[in-house]
Amino acid sequence: MTMRDFAPATSLVDLRFQGHPEYIACYVLHTSRGIALIDPGPSSTLSALEESLRLAGFSFEAVTDVLLTHIHLDHAGATGSIVRDHPDVRVHVHARGARHMVDPTRLLASASRLYGDRMDTLWGEFIAVPTDRVNVLEGGETLALGGRELEVAYTPGHASHHVSYFDPDGGLAFVGDTLGIRIDNRPYVMPVTPPPDIDPARWTESHRKIRAWAPDTLCPTHFGPARPAEAHIDEHEQRLAGWAAGVEEAVATGADAQERARQFALQVQRDIEGVLGKEQAAGYAAGGGLTDSWHGLARYFTKRATKEQQ
Ligand SMILES: [Zn+2]
Repeated sequence: MTMRDFAPATSLVDLRFQGHPEYIACYVLHTSRGIALIDPGPSSTLSALEESLRLAGFSFEAVTDVLLTHIHLDHAGATGSIVRDHPDVRVHVHARGARHMVDPTRLLASASRLYGDRMDTLWGEFIAVPTDRVNVLEGGETLALGGRELEVAYTPGHASHHVSYFDPDGGLAFVGDTLGIRIDNRPYVMPVTPPPDIDPARWTESHRKIRAWAPDTLCPTHFGPARPAEAHIDEHEQRLAGWAAGVEEAVATGADAQERARQFALQVQRDIEGVLGKEQAAGYAAGGGLTDSWHGLARYFTKRATKEQQ
């Protein structure tokens, strides 16, 4: 539970989700007005986040803004709890995600189908954010945060409501899950493609937008600053294309989905271990939900095929 600085006035907190190090990062921007958090993580790690700030000499009272890349529980779950306890905090989120932050009923129902009775242990509470605390983003905005300016880009692909943030002064791109999982700058980038709204076609445009920023450093939530940015984006784009081609072929030939998902997970796991070794690869598969990633892509290609038939 420590906060570490990795760029001027920019830190990260390892939330140690379920006791695992290097699993979920919350990025912390120090501004002239206080602190902005990029993806505060789930409620289950909120006390760890508060404690980390406190140990580094900051009070949670200093938090002015919460910037969400997207509303998946591991990124955004604590937001409502933070606003309840600190009613002045502003929440920035894409328009397609904003309504679920204001009324999380549907979001929680779909998450409950996935996680069942583990919902509470894994994520903790997810409470609504009052409408008047939400700044709705479309992409293309510049956010003024106490002497710092952050550019916003709409970057769908992993989620239909995903945005990324760019700090031009530091050359830092906060990309959420748009550029996959890469733990501690290890030489392996793994896409994350779970249901329900994976879209490889729109993802291409998101890669292009992030490249156009020419960032020095990428800041994926899972986990930690990654460099050089261009090679990381290339690797993500190529690996995603390879995954998509395999799943598209399986869907077209009517292969057994469960079996293909299982084979895919084993194959990716072997691939990562081949590059990183067993020990360094462990965190990737644990966080990756590889069979989910197969199903996320399969859902896209199945939907597209159904549309084409109509
Ligand atoms: Zn996500």
